[in-house]
Order: sequence, then structure tokens, then C-alpha cells
Amino acid sequence: MIRVNENYLKLRASYLFSDIARRVADYAAKNPDKEIIRLGIGDVTCPLPPACISAFHKAVGEMGSKETFRGYGPEQGYEFLREAIARSDFQARGVRIEPDEIFVSDGAKCDTGNFQELFSREIAVAVPDPVYPVYVDTNVMAGRSGENCGNRYRGLIYLECTEENGFVPDVPKERADLIYLCFPNNPTGATAAKQKLAEWVRYAHENRSLILFDAAYESFIRDDGLAHSIFEIEGASEVAVEFRSFSKTAGFTGTRCAFTVIPKKCNAFTESGEPVPLRELWLRRQTTKFNGVSYPVQRAAEAVYSEEGRRQVRELGDYYLKNARLIKERLGGIGFPCFGGENAPYIWVKGGKDSWAFFDELLERAGVVCTPGAGFGSCGEGYIRLSAFNTHENVERALDRIEKAFK
Ligand code: PLP
Repeated sequence: MIRVNENYLKLRASYLFSDIARRVADYAAKNPDKEIIRLGIGDVTCPLPPACISAFHKAVGEMGSKETFRGYGPEQGYEFLREAIARSDFQARGVRIEPDEIFVSDGAKCDTGNFQELFSREIAVAVPDPVYPVYVDTNVMAGRSGENCGNRYRGLIYLECTEENGFVPDVPKERADLIYLCFPNNPTGATAAKQKLAEWVRYAHENRSLILFDAAYESFIRDDGLAHSIFEIEGASEVAVEFRSFSKTAGFTGTRCAFTVIPKKCNAFTESGEPVPLRELWLRRQTTKFNGVSYPVQRAAEAVYSEEGRRQVRELGDYYLKNARLIKERLGGIGFPCFGGENAPYIWVKGGKDSWAFFDELLERAGVVCTPGAGFGSCGEGYIRLSAFNTHENVERALDRIEKAFK
């Protein structure tokens, strides 16, 4: 008898996006003449920057000629890309990261989801609430939780992110071995001050824990006082791993390229307390289970670091941030408290009511789709997430309609 991994049966079916789709379809059927504007999406709408496209084309051309054709590439990623990343994203900011500490991949979703494989089933896992669901579900699949009860799994430590703590969780009283942090945050758009990150690094040192730091939205940081990388915090390279992505930075959601940074000094421990370098374990894992990102995609990602690529990526981020600013100002203007949206493409809006009721109201009265906060965890109840990844025109039109309906 082939036995199933019963941990999968514990997974609370995620009704979030199918529920949204169903409600939107009902609305569309009842209102065939009303155009729907989607501010719920986490996908980008602008095309790839021209610098990436031209590098992409050139590399595709190389694949068509005998002299320049490439087969399997290095599992860890081509050196040209890892060098560009180390130099521009880290060394230029005074952070000592070397190219061999970088692992290129096809997504931060897979990397944040797969990384937990390196750890024992018995570890205590701490996740933010609200949360990017991948961190939770992959630990449930691996058997690190009990049953789902209400909106939470038994056995996981939930780090509450509330208006009171500025949506930046405090270190827990109990011991957590593996801690997921994400800044700038999805879904709240919150950022964490360096001093707050330093508290987490201290906690990780004291408890021999590991921080998995998801910086997928790093490119939206405009405030010079904020850390772009957890490795800007002293002592972090012994206790943290960082995930980055080209998805939101440069419109690679459909092209797929990301990377994970594992400093050589960063260890996990055997039962008897012997240190084991995580970089080596991940290299072993990747060489066994992963065969690299395609050459043209890595050349396109490398172009993000060229002079024109940098300028274009900055403009792309500014485009979405302008939407975020507009959403925040105009919703704030009609009395909805709004958070995030300054160094992040998400705005966390307090609706003063059940988040699904707010979702329905926005749809019925304004024809605008959002994401109900409760879908990201218990602490998301009472909020909705609006995304800035639409066009200026659509954002303006959505805001006109919301103002008209709610003023
Ligand atoms: N991490 C966070 C916090 C995200 O919100 C997302 C995508 O929405 C990802 C990772 C996934 O990134 P990628 O497209 O590189 O898989």
C-alpha cells in the first residue's frame, strides 16, 4: 500500500484566491457592463526593462550558434551573475558577501519553501502573522506542525504583527529555532528599523537560531536609514540566510530568476552540537535536486546591474511606488488608516470591519478587487491588502470610484 504523506492532509485548503475569484465572477455575472479593477494582485504589470530584453535577446542568439551554445550551467548559477550580485547588492553597501555565498535560482518561492529541508523535523518554527503563506505550508508539509485549529496550526510559533508594534514582530519569550522574517513586508508593506533587526540577530545568537530573511521587495526601499540586507546588521552573517528575487525588482515574475545568500560562517548544529555550514548543505541539496536557471535568463538578470539596467529598474520601482503613494494618500483622505506603501508596493488598509465584508463592499460599491487580510493570518482580520502593481490609469480610476462610493 502506497502511504500518503499525511502532513499534506493537515493543510488548510487555501480558499483565499479561489474565494476571491468566485466572488469576482459572481459580481461580473450580475454587472456585465461594469469594468472590474484589480488591486489585489501580487503580479507585476510593466514589461521587462529594455536592458534586460536586449541582454536576453543576445543570449538567445548565442544559444543558436555552435561556438557560443551552452548546455547545463553551474547549479549554483553562472559566475558572471553571482559576481554582479555580490558587487552591486552587497559589497557596494559595505557588506562582505562573496560570489560563492550566492545561489542563483528560479524563484524565491521555491527557495523560501525548500530551505526548511535542511533542518530536523523537531525544530521550533516561528512565522509572522500575517504571513506569506509559503513559510507556513512548507513546514506543515514537512511535519513540523500539529493540526489546523481556527486560522493557526498547533505547534508553530506565531509572531504577531499588529498596529501596536508597527507590524514588526517582537522577539518571542519562548525559544524558536527557525525564524522567518520578511522586510519590506508582504502583505503589510511594513519595514523594520535596523535596531529592531539587531534585536532579532541578538536573539538568534543567544538561542543558536537561524533567521530566514525574505528581502524579495528590497528594491522598493527608498529610505536611506533602512537596511537593504539583513547582513548590514552586525553579527547577522552567522545566523541568517537571505532570499532575494528579480520578480518584483525587474518584472521577472514570468521569466523566473532569484537568489539566496548563505554566508560561509552560517551554521546549523548536529544533535551533539557540532556546527555544520549551511552553505555546504544547500550546495549539496541544489546539486542533487536543481539544474540551474537558463543561460539567457541569467544574462537578462545580469543586465539589471548595468548602468542603464539600474536606472530602468529604479524607474520601474518608482512607477509602482507612485501608485502606492496615491493609494495611501487618497484612502487616508477619506478616513481609512493606511500602513506600508512607502518603501513597499503593498498598502495595508484598516477597514474597521471584517476583512471579507470590506472586500465585498469594495467590489459591490466600487468594482475594485483587493485581498482580504484574514487570508494571510488571524492578525490580518480587519484589514485588506492593496497592491500597487497596476497601471497609473487603473489606480487613479479605482481611487476615483472608491472616493465616490465611500466619501
Ligand atoms: N517572497 C515574498 C514575500 C513574496 O511576496 C513573493 C511573491 O509574491 C515571493 C517571495 C516569490 O518570489 P518569486 O517570484 O521569486 O518566486
